[in-house]
Amino acid sequence: MRGRELRGELDAFLAEHEQDLVGFRRDLHRHPELAFAEYRTTQRIADRLSAAGLVPSVLPRGTGLICDVGSGDGPTVALRADIDALGLQDEKDVSYRSTVPGACHACGHDVHTTILLGTSLFLAQQAAAGLLPGRVRLIFQPAEELPGGALEVMAHGGITGVDRIFGLHCDPRLDVGQVGLKPGPITSACDRLVVRVSGPGGHTARPHLTADLVFALAKVLTELPAALSRRVDPRSSLSLVWGRVEAGSAANAIPDDGVAEGTVRCLDENAWHAAPDLIKSLLDSVAGAYGIEAQMEYVRGVPPVVNDEMSVEMLAEATQRALGPHSVAPTQQSLGGEDFAWYLESVPGAFARLGTRSVGGETYDIHQGTFDVDESAIGMGVRVMAATALTALWESGPVTVTDPITSLA
Ligand SMILES: [Zn+2]
Ligand SMILES: [Zn+2]
Repeated sequence: MRGRELRGELDAFLAEHEQDLVGFRRDLHRHPELAFAEYRTTQRIADRLSAAGLVPSVLPRGTGLICDVGSGDGPTVALRADIDALGLQDEKDVSYRSTVPGACHACGHDVHTTILLGTSLFLAQQAAAGLLPGRVRLIFQPAEELPGGALEVMAHGGITGVDRIFGLHCDPRLDVGQVGLKPGPITSACDRLVVRVSGPGGHTARPHLTADLVFALAKVLTELPAALSRRVDPRSSLSLVWGRVEAGSAANAIPDDGVAEGTVRCLDENAWHAAPDLIKSLLDSVAGAYGIEAQMEYVRGVPPVVNDEMSVEMLAEATQRALGPHSVAPTQQSLGGEDFAWYLESVPGAFARLGTRSVGGETYDIHQGTFDVDESAIGMGVRVMAATALTALWESGPVTVTDPITSLA
């Protein structure tokens, strides 16, 4: 069937384009751009897509772009790459070292971008040959590290009409040629919490005539994490950990305000959605018991990436089709965040980990100035992404999403 021919077609495509793609990656690596400043990167991608006869649409801010390949009434599958770099110094001694002080592609987004470009060029060939049974939406997303880029893409209709979405991330703990997959949650949520307390203040000799703010704040610090652990399913690993606390200025004066800041981490999507309301009600009850006022500022980070089971199966099938039968490895949920999660709140899909370590080589961790990849991972990524898009188009009709409001009517 089609799958058998696909491998040969990908081989032929990469024999012709792989070196060029490696050069494209090295150019991006030399010229990293931070979140929402990816103007040059966006232009390079747009130029290449246009040269292949595609029609890219740059997002209104001028960074990041969306481009459709193919048309017709078939399903629409989206592939997403993030294009931004990190604000840290490149510490590698390589010819393609960053030329921008304090900026470096240390999360591998240059690799993701190049893989999606290669995939786009291959799919454009397939479409031209009449072999694309639907539409593929290419999403070159800005600002994953900020984060905010995924929401920017969605605000401009980036996943409107999309039936299924896929993405991948470099994983330096996996050998090149391996793809790490996991159904269900694969990354975690991390939010920031600020609690401000206030009261009348007074002399430490007379705590009963005022509100003992420092004592009450201490109760908030210990009671909130303790109560959370009894109110939330322990399997969700919802944890509140304080990082900063401040109140008072003299040993014998009860202050009239204080502040505590911390992070809320969570492995589970439902617990993540419920966290702000739950924490607020716990805070109000502790503060109320000691007669102080408490205000909460809850700053949302990203939800966990929760992989759809059928989409993971498609990824697994496609990976084996493209890289061989032993190329899929199980992977674990990480405590890191990834804004691909926002897409999966609206559309089913899956996020994969692409092995980037040279076989038998060292592990260069991401978000380090020494991070680098085995560049043969680029060709592997193109094979996986192209095969995934085609597999998803071959196998899925449009997914019918039931609108809860109209279905109730
Ligand atoms: Zn990162
Ligand atoms: Zn990243």
